[in-house]
Amino acid sequence: MITRYTANSAEQNYNKYILPKMSNFNFAESFLVYFIGERNISSKIEIITIVTAAILLITMYLYKITKHKRILAKPFPPEWEKIIQKNVPLYNRLPDTLKQQLHSLVKIFLSEKEFEGCGGVKITDEIKVTIASQACMLLLNRKTSVFKKLHTILVYPQTYAAKTVSSDGIVTMEGHSIRLGESWQNGPVVLAWDSITSKTSEIGDAQNVVLHEFAHQLDQEDGSANGAPILENKSSYITWARILGREYESLQKNARKNINSVIDTYGATNPAEFFAVVTEAFFENPQNLQKNHPELYRELSNYYNLNPAEWQ
Ligand SMILES: [Zn+2]
Repeated sequence: MITRYTANSAEQNYNKYILPKMSNFNFAESFLVYFIGERNISSKIEIITIVTAAILLITMYLYKITKHKRILAKPFPPEWEKIIQKNVPLYNRLPDTLKQQLHSLVKIFLSEKEFEGCGGVKITDEIKVTIASQACMLLLNRKTSVFKKLHTILVYPQTYAAKTVSSDGIVTMEGHSIRLGESWQNGPVVLAWDSITSKTSEIGDAQNVVLHEFAHQLDQEDGSANGAPILENKSSYITWARILGREYESLQKNARKNINSVIDTYGATNPAEFFAVVTEAFFENPQNLQKNHPELYRELSNYYNLNPAEWQ
């Protein structure tokens, strides 16, 4: 039998059967029944939560990519480059390809991070660009996020006194220590502007408080500040521990005997400080580090995927 649907009967059908179904239609429910069959309500809620979270994550990821594309399409402001040339001597030694990479990283860094002035500091482009350009040196030539755990950089006008608390198990002692900067896990990086301008202006002194604090950020990305950032694979950690462990012990011995080297004895404090201090030496005094600590230099060069000893 052939049934012929006239406009009228189709409309009636629609009204009679489809509209009531539409009004009761629960997309999530149908989705679940279709894909996973009948389940109890708690497992359905769990799956709805997982699916919603996945959709949210994908949306955020796509939003981030689109935002980055938009930011990267804009030219690097010439006044920013002038600031970097003036305040960051290391920049002037970079090969052109790395300078271009740095520009992109700085644009993303500045679009994502908040700067807060403390103790009367007014945040300017000079402060932001000087800090961002040095922090991003650590990310050149690597597939990595731009300090994903970091949201805020606090800037003080000068070296500041921070409250310290220590305990010997019986007595808790409170005091103050003078800080050039600090890096908090899942928290801000704190920097003193005067230590940035004085310490970065001298190349070859192996001191750079911005590189130091942001090296701590890399170290803290895996959840623990132990002197080992996230490395490529298991065997990389074994080599890293062998070489940096040996160099760390050697620095501790030298520190006890007051023997100075290209590696600041502050690195003998603990493995996290050691990584931050050798990072400073790697970028600020690479030839010297390579000459006196070739294995350590090679290890850092593998990690950072850079060879600053060759930069002119
Ligand atoms: Zn430190």
